Amino acid sequence: MKPYKNKINRIRTFALSLIFIGVVIMYLGIFFRKHEIVMLIFMFLGVLAVIASTVVYAWIGLLSTKATQIVCPNCGKQTKMLGRVDMCGHCREPLTLDPTLEGKEFDVAYNRPQKSNSKSKTK
Ligand SMILES: [Zn+2]
Repeated sequence: MKPYKNKINRIRTFALSLIFIGVVIMYLGIFFRKHEIVMLIFMFLGVLAVIASTVVYAWIGLLSTKATQIVCPNCGKQTKMLGRVDMCGHCREPLTLDPTLEGKEFDVAYNRPQKSNSKSKTK
């Protein structure tokens, strides 16, 4: 099993789940019909989640234009990748743009700038 998913697919799943969460929150609001303020808060949160999902969708669109389109060497299908390393959206084959990483074990850490390591020790 390959644990990582294609980034664009992952964000898309996140946006879709936000819509569902928004609808569920609004639906819960109906149970508080007697308490108008509570119901309004639920409605507001639900609308917020839906708006957030729209924003995420717009963001995916933006990312997609920046993403590199490549043909997966494993399954031969066209896929989009983000960052230095990503997964094929069809077969989850690890892909890299960096020839120095070729053949190495897949690691999401390769996406981070190498100097950012010094920041993590302050935690
Ligand atoms: Zn593939």
